[in-house]
Amino acid sequence: MNTLLPDVLAPAPEARYRQRGNRCSSIGHPCPLTTWFARSALWEGRKPIDEGLARVFRVGRLWETFVMGQLRAAGLVRGEESFEWPELQLSGSWDGCFPAGRAAVDLKSMSEGAFDRADSLEALRAGTGYQRAYVAQVGLYASHPRANMANCSLYCVAKSSGRVRQISWPLDECLPEIEAAWRACRAINEELAVNDCDATSAAFGLAQTGPWCDGCDWAHLCPAYSPTACGWKLAPDDVARKIEDLAALKEAMIDQEKRKFHLEEELRSHWKASGPGEYVAGVYKVKVTQVEASEVKASTRAAYLRWTMKKIHTMEPEE
Ligand code: SF4
Repeated sequence: MNTLLPDVLAPAPEARYRQRGNRCSSIGHPCPLTTWFARSALWEGRKPIDEGLARVFRVGRLWETFVMGQLRAAGLVRGEESFEWPELQLSGSWDGCFPAGRAAVDLKSMSEGAFDRADSLEALRAGTGYQRAYVAQVGLYASHPRANMANCSLYCVAKSSGRVRQISWPLDECLPEIEAAWRACRAINEELAVNDCDATSAAFGLAQTGPWCDGCDWAHLCPAYSPTACGWKLAPDDVARKIEDLAALKEAMIDQEKRKFHLEEELRSHWKASGPGEYVAGVYKVKVTQVEASEVKASTRAAYLRWTMKKIHTMEPEE
């Protein structure tokens, strides 16, 4: 019988609020316009985060807490501290520092694919919008006068396999990213001082389109990412209709797959309770057999029930 467990990974309801200042964690994004959207009155138009993604983020945070706990317990990383740059309206908190290497430390969880690709400073610089932002983030912490670190260390953890990697670089190497972050802060602060809700404002001069636009929470509001601005070609109407039909079909198939999965799970529980044998269920004959542990792949280890169904066109049980 299935047991209903408390959903320990259920994401907390999404906190939605207007960003009060610039953040070290995002100011190094290649498109500073995203920060302006988050801070301006247009923040309310942000694309809602879907539950699946919120769950992925939650799992990532669990990994980050676990790995950072291990690094602290081993004495490799110390402290957790907040920093502010009031003149830039900028703030952030590092995960700690690596005293032996005089390095500011931050830790990020990522998918297996992203982890495999992000294996050096250059790879981070060529990565997704968020990976590029990590370089400025750790650099800003290291360069804060109170931190006064000579190096930067980014720990990456892969969310499925738990592999951990450290990418380190001298602070001097990321001065271009730090200076770009300062410039972005100043431009956003100046824009907000004169305008905070005009969708045609000068802030759109900060736009940097790129592959990251597809995942941007404000892409639907962004004039820089419109068909006209990006020079996308127009497909004929009948192609547009077919694309919509295909999308609807895919959605319906996902629902059907979910239903199929749940039905199979319920039936599996039923056959487990009733045991091996031959059964008639309506016009179907169901054969339930026990698969012995010795027949099961070594990796699976446990015995299980296998069942097949065949239409018999009769309501009478077979002899
Ligand atoms: S859609 Fe692209 S250009 Fe527009 S705000 Fe988002 S990342 Fe920047």
